[in-house]
Amino acid sequence: MAFKNFPMVPFVVYGRGSFAQLGDIIRPHRQEGKPFIFFVDNCFRDRNDFLGRIPVEGNDEIILVDVNSHEPSTWQVDSYRDYLKEKYGEVSGVAGMGGGAVMDITKAVSLMMTNPGSAADYQGWDLVKNPGIYKVGIPTLSGTGAEVSRTAVLIGPEKKLGLNSDFTPFRQVILDPELIKGVPPLQRFYTGMDNYLHCIESLTGSYMNVFSKAYGEKAFQMCHHVFFEKDVWDEQSDEELMMASWMGGMSIAYSQVGIIHAMGYGLGFALGVRHGEGNSLIFNQLEEFYPEEVAEYRKLLERMEKMYGITLPEGVTADCTEEQFDTMVRVASGMTPLWENALGKDWQKIMTPDRMREIFKRI
Ligand code: NAD
Ligand code: ZN
Repeated sequence: MAFKNFPMVPFVVYGRGSFAQLGDIIRPHRQEGKPFIFFVDNCFRDRNDFLGRIPVEGNDEIILVDVNSHEPSTWQVDSYRDYLKEKYGEVSGVAGMGGGAVMDITKAVSLMMTNPGSAADYQGWDLVKNPGIYKVGIPTLSGTGAEVSRTAVLIGPEKKLGLNSDFTPFRQVILDPELIKGVPPLQRFYTGMDNYLHCIESLTGSYMNVFSKAYGEKAFQMCHHVFFEKDVWDEQSDEELMMASWMGGMSIAYSQVGIIHAMGYGLGFALGVRHGEGNSLIFNQLEEFYPEEVAEYRKLLERMEKMYGITLPEGVTADCTEEQFDTMVRVASGMTPLWENALGKDWQKIMTPDRMREIFKRI
């Protein structure tokens, strides 16, 4: 058996206020006449306290990215690449400031600056041929682990699947807990649950090993503390969540996610349901696979409703056509490593297409 040899982010800064070091960090990577491009989540468009701290020099450009109308797509990445190539030819590097969506777009644009064709050609495992350009990740929302992972998840013409490769991880990450302060409760909940579910899927999967467990257990403990035990959201919550996201990502790097994510991709592709929300909805229907975990999660849902008035949407698939269910099942079934991790090599005997469809219908 060959053991997985995987890349990690080579440079990382952690600390409240560490965002101020961005200018110094990227300076050695600046190339004469070639700008640095900052992809920034559109939620910061009116926040001059944030935009004003971005170390813009010369012909650098800030590109505001709207992630609300749809999840990141291959055509969106292709169009940013085309725009940058046409306007500048080459750029010194890219930095992404936002949640998982902006970070994934940034990683994918970095790769597409040096790889021909469309991002859709690279959706899968180890299809990317050339290292991308220098890229920096700066999370403003914690939970997805996109800041540390070797994938950039995109919706493409055929499927929702990441560009998984050794060239995908950021070269530099800045973890500044100050940047995730004030994320609205519902968003914090969905992205936090993504983090929590990374831990559950990693810790209960057959790919589990001590490397993954070391990260997964700690991440789980911090998520648990933040969501189940604390009665106020404070600076410590932001700090713990930022590290839980990193460590949850590290845990799945050496194991895998499972049923929840596989089905979440199906729901996301067919209906555009967002990653954290879709995973939360699916998990709530998987008590036959995770009896104790789902029971605990339902207690958390009660707590979230009391504290923040958060409730999960109902009847999300109520009006779906049989074709849409076919699409959900097809996309989810394509995620073989995830199913094998969760249910073993014979997963198709356990999760038949009919059984999966029935679960989708309950959402
Ligand atoms: P997101 O990036 O989609 O952002 C969700 C919302 O939060 C948006 O409205 C955004 O504007 C807002 N937001 C971001 N930062 C904020 C801040 N500081 N304050 C207030 N609002 C803020 O959410 P996400 O859950 O972080 O990421 C989901 C995306 O990540 C999906 O596209 C999913 O496919 C991807 N993902 C990637 C990986 C990976 O390993 N690459 C893993 C999991 C999920
Ligand atoms: Zn996830």
